[in-house]
Amino acid sequence: MGTTDSPIPVEPDAPVGKRPVEEELRSVLAGDARRYDELFEHTNDVVYTHDLAGNFLSVNQAGLLLTGYSRDELMASKVVDIVVPEHVELANEMIRQMLAGRPTATFQVALMTKHGDRPVLEVNSRLLYRGGRAIALQGIGRDITERLRVEAALRESEQRFRSVFDGAAIGIMRLDLRGNCLESNRAMQAMLGYDAEELTSTDLSTLLHPDDRAQAVERFRETIRGRRDHDQFELRYLRKDGSVVWTQATVSLGRDVAGEPLFCIGMMQDVSQRREAEQAMQRSEARFRSLIQNISDIIALLDANGRVLYISPSFQSIWGLSPEALIGVDFFLAMHPEDVPRVRSVFAAVVGTAGAARTVEFRRPDRMGGYRYFEAIMSNLLNDPEVGGVVINTREITDRKRSEEALKHQALHDALTELPNRTLLQDRLDQAIRAAQRERTPLALLFLDLDRFKDVNDTFGHHMGDRLLQQGGARLRAAIRAVDTVARLGGDEFAVLLPATGREGAQLVAEKIVLTLSAPYNVDGLTLDVGTSIGIALFPEQGQDAGTLMRRADVAMYVAKRSGGGVAVYSADQDLHSRERMLLITELREAIEQRELILHFQPVVALAGKQQACFEALVRWQHPRYGLMQPDQFVPLAEQSGLLVSIGHHVLSEALQQCATWQRSGMEVGVAVNLSGRGLHDPGLPQLIARLLSEHGLPPNRLTLEITEAGLITNPQVSREALVLLHDMGVRLSIDDFGTGYSSLSQLSRLPVDEIKIDRSFVLRMMADENDAVIVRSTIELAHNLGLCVVAAGIEDENTLERLRQLSCDFGQGYLLGRPLPVGDVPSWLSGYAGGRFDPTG
Ligand code: C2E
Ligand code: MG
Repeated sequence: MGTTDSPIPVEPDAPVGKRPVEEELRSVLAGDARRYDELFEHTNDVVYTHDLAGNFLSVNQAGLLLTGYSRDELMASKVVDIVVPEHVELANEMIRQMLAGRPTATFQVALMTKHGDRPVLEVNSRLLYRGGRAIALQGIGRDITERLRVEAALRESEQRFRSVFDGAAIGIMRLDLRGNCLESNRAMQAMLGYDAEELTSTDLSTLLHPDDRAQAVERFRETIRGRRDHDQFELRYLRKDGSVVWTQATVSLGRDVAGEPLFCIGMMQDVSQRREAEQAMQRSEARFRSLIQNISDIIALLDANGRVLYISPSFQSIWGLSPEALIGVDFFLAMHPEDVPRVRSVFAAVVGTAGAARTVEFRRPDRMGGYRYFEAIMSNLLNDPEVGGVVINTREITDRKRSEEALKHQALHDALTELPNRTLLQDRLDQAIRAAQRERTPLALLFLDLDRFKDVNDTFGHHMGDRLLQQGGARLRAAIRAVDTVARLGGDEFAVLLPATGREGAQLVAEKIVLTLSAPYNVDGLTLDVGTSIGIALFPEQGQDAGTLMRRADVAMYVAKRSGGGVAVYSADQDLHSRERMLLITELREAIEQRELILHFQPVVALAGKQQACFEALVRWQHPRYGLMQPDQFVPLAEQSGLLVSIGHHVLSEALQQCATWQRSGMEVGVAVNLSGRGLHDPGLPQLIARLLSEHGLPPNRLTLEITEAGLITNPQVSREALVLLHDMGVRLSIDDFGTGYSSLSQLSRLPVDEIKIDRSFVLRMMADENDAVIVRSTIELAHNLGLCVVAAGIEDENTLERLRQLSCDFGQGYLLGRPLPVGDVPSWLSGYAGGRFDPTG
């Protein structure tokens, strides 16, 4: 507050006394009252006087206004009465000091007003003199309450700014208008790596990254030129250590009251991490983009209705359509129409569940009239804000599909004939059974095998066998309808599945197949004949499931085979796989010990000359419940269950024993014993025979061993060795069933055999069938040329017998000459056999 000239004529150096001069003073002042009033009454400052004791002498209007007291009230008061208690001492001290010689004093004092508030006055006080004497004090006080408040507020805001400035996490600096740093906070220093001093003394533009410098300087200039008060941009700084820091800079312009730019505040935030993340994001986005653009899969994004939002460029190369052409278009239109409903329903399921993913396959027709196959993985990312669609990852799987199909074909088909194999048959049979159950229709399953195929294989080799099977397979396929299935089960076994076919239909088809398959085959210039045996099992009456039907068809086939080929429909009593069969095997095992296996003897008669007759031992099973069983009812069973070897031993020993008995009773007849193929391979056989012959004292040539062609051929080497051994012992060797296999006589002649036995099938027909007659005749001739004896089996009538005699057949066997006889009947038969030449009529 400036000093105001005193309105009172005073003599500054004159000391003023106290009370004694009061009156005097008053009068003086009264004289000046008018002027006093005029001068001070209306100033804004509070002007007052008080005597040296502190009693108010005068106060102007501003004082009254400020204190709220009336002039009278104030005139009756002392100064200290309106000073706040804390300041009373200060006020008194001021007065004391002035009286002690201090001419003026300036101090601040808070008042207590009548309004109850506490305005603060800054008071300039001085002594008033009269006649060199101080007589009063004059005070001019200015109300500084508002100023103090503003100052305090300023201080506070300054403090607040300081603490923000210093403690801010972002870098702040104040710059002059040339861009020099005036001050910087700690965060700024830390961010740039310079201390406060260095920042103030450095040209900040040199700290800018060279790439950003020009732009940043320009923007800063524009700001200080006042174009804008505020600017924000991202720029890079170089730290003291040379590294780069990305910052987001905000520049604000500070203006003076007149609006002139004063300074700049620069705030900088380190956004390196964010920039890095962004860049990484951009990089990875670019990477993904290029991945998707270059991937061989088709990546498509569809909306919930299946319309294409995006489709990757691979679409062009795979689909042959421009990706753009598909945008906004229904994705499913690109598929094979037959697949669309299925794919759409999968798509709908995926759309219906957030996050769901499903794989679906579909086709697209290709130009060659075939298909290309695709696999689409559909993922519902509709709720993913980044994607907002269903992602379809489509890839071509044509190659995979083809090789799968090839593999499947391979797994389900027989490589040789290309026919379905057992697995596929089983599958089709299952399906056919289900369909038949649904539609209440029958179905038939045929099992068939080629008779004598094994012989072809063994005689001419697998190559021929394979060719024969291929031809057979082709014939079979040609013989049936398209809805039927022909399968090769393995070896020479086939199956035919006839849907919607009953007993009669099946039998007709089977007969047709028998005819078709038994026509001669031409393989590599050779004409081959094979027959076939077919077994039929019928659904539903003979089996409700694939397994049962297959087993029963097999059983029936076996039955057909046993009866010499042709067709057999399954019937339960034939079922060799049934429990009865199991029981039978058990019983057969015991039958040997129980001596239930007995021998019948069928005469083998010399047709010319005085040769010795002999008897073929034929085994029978005297079954306790079933009665007398013929070999075909149990020999195959014995063969399958491995019992045939011990049965063979039993028969041998019985036959030789019988032969010895006959010898002892003067009947010098030989025995012929049938030997199974396996029996011949029994290493103990020659020893057993040698022992039995010597035990019974029989010459070895009393025994003839009959071995079938097939038995010989199973393992020619072993057979040969066994035959040589037996032959060397002197046992006679005969080839049974000759003609049913494919052995040639010249082959057989290399074996040490003595005799061949022409199969009865030829002999039975030889008078009716010229072919058979030729076979019989040429066989006899050839055999004789090779030095072999010939037996004709199956002589049932006189004509045949006569014809065989004409052909010089050595021996004959058959019902005409003698049926297989129980041992007790042999002597009476022999008595009718006169002197070697047997006369059946006699
Ligand atoms: P195989 O060796 O060919 O025996 C001859 C079969 O022909 C006998 O049948 C006999 O009864 C039958 N037979 C004889 N003459 C005639 C005829 O004029 N017309 C017709 N239609 N048939 C005639 P069987 O006794 O039922 O024997 C069948 C087969 O069983 C035999 O055929 C033989 O291979 C086998 N077999 C019999 N006994 C034994 C044996 O002890 N061991 C072995 N391994 N097999 C045996
Ligand atoms: Mg025989």
